Amino acid sequence: MKLNKNFFNLHDDYLFYKIISKAKEFEKTNPKLKIISLGIGDTTMPLCRAVISAMKKSVTEMSKKETYRGYGLEQGCKFLRFAIKKYYKKREIDLSISEIFINDGAGRAISEIQELFDSNNTTLIVNPTYPAYVDISILAGKKIIFANANQKNLFSPTPNKNTKCDIIYLCSPNNPTGSVYTHEALKKWVNYALKNNAVILFDAAYEAFVSSKNLPRSIFEIDGAKKCAIEICSLSKTAGFTGVRCGYIVIPDKLIFENHKINKLWMRRQTTKYNGLSYITQRGAEAVFTNEGQKQNKKIIEYYKENVKIINESLKKIGIWTCCSNNSPYVFAKCPNNMNSWKFFDFLLYKLSIIVSPGIGFGSAGEGFIRLSGFGDRNKTIEATKRFEKIREFLG
Ligand code: PLP
Repeated sequence: MKLNKNFFNLHDDYLFYKIISKAKEFEKTNPKLKIISLGIGDTTMPLCRAVISAMKKSVTEMSKKETYRGYGLEQGCKFLRFAIKKYYKKREIDLSISEIFINDGAGRAISEIQELFDSNNTTLIVNPTYPAYVDISILAGKKIIFANANQKNLFSPTPNKNTKCDIIYLCSPNNPTGSVYTHEALKKWVNYALKNNAVILFDAAYEAFVSSKNLPRSIFEIDGAKKCAIEICSLSKTAGFTGVRCGYIVIPDKLIFENHKINKLWMRRQTTKYNGLSYITQRGAEAVFTNEGQKQNKKIIEYYKENVKIINESLKKIGIWTCCSNNSPYVFAKCPNNMNSWKFFDFLLYKLSIIVSPGIGFGSAGEGFIRLSGFGDRNKTIEATKRFEKIREFLG
């Protein structure tokens, strides 16, 4: 037996594991200090009432012989796929329920979707972005190239004359920068993909945070995207499902490579490898798409976005440059005094007892930046911003 040698090409540390280890060590040596975490992108608000009551109702159904359910459809329950179809229709995107696949979240989907593609393909990844795309591509033995995001291109790079790739991971709103692709910029990627026989894997995990009406929340808002893109979405950040687990992939019927419908291939794969998501979870997910669920979750998203605003304003006040689109749960901030990401991380931890995420953990182009999360508690967020006022005292 031989091991998958691609494992040894991974970086030693997974970013969030390293952050937690550093925080734990600090806590051990400074037990009296109150640490505030603006680091990890996990949600903190409870599930909304609509979801809880739908899940409770389905638990009762499971307790009676007449309404008990066993295995469901591999592709996901029809009621949930209809709810998602309606959700897209509100944005004038027509989908059939056979184009929607329910799963247990975007993390698994962005990885497993690689099974469709030959390992000789070249994958393009925006730098910086969600680090899993790189690890997944390394494990799958793919060649990786990067599209560098920076202040000049507003952290939304588009293809240029040197771009040569077959698989394109795009994340909009982007984790960690919060930048959102415009229709015009996405059209450039769609045109590139159509012209070069490439596929776009569009991670829309944060689409619900987009409130600017003129910005796209789905790749399928772009003409031609159904012929070159797969959309990966999740209820983790939209509805606090990080611990419940539910997401979905949209694979259009028109997506065809080498005369094969990708939708059919994925369906074939799912019927072998997946026995469906739990019925209780799918009923909870269905409630997310009801009017009541949408209203209740909007309030929670507004709460997180208000945290973002508070963090952003406090950093700007002390002269720290930020990339804050107001359409994401994150603030991406430039480290002051030319510090690198880990140095500023250590400074904030050791001087102010605040945890953030170092930008370098999201790619080399994230060096010199940090990511701050709006997913925390309001009072703790305000307390953190009071501590930020001391940054200039320490650094000048
Ligand atoms: N995609 C992005 C851009 C993320 O930031 C995350 C989690 O933080 C995920 C996917 C994973 O989401 P899920 O909880 O649905 O697996």
